[in-house]
Amino acid sequence: MCKEDLEQMGPEAIEVIRAESGQQGADWEYYFPKLDSESTATAYLFRCRHCAQLGGYSDRH
Ligand SMILES: [Zn+2]
Repeated sequence: MCKEDLEQMGPEAIEVIRAESGQQGADWEYYFPKLDSESTATAYLFRCRHCAQLGGYSDRH
């Protein structure tokens, strides 16, 4: 998923990815726009089938 996908899914989705990445402030502002399915980093989002909690992570290539 890319930045636009996450924005469409709303602030909860963005926060899951941000929290997992361990980044904040300026680091996150720099990293977030780089999320792109074909580029530097990609975000993965899923909903737990047991408790419906939103989970996810991102990966740098
Ligand atoms: Zn769960």
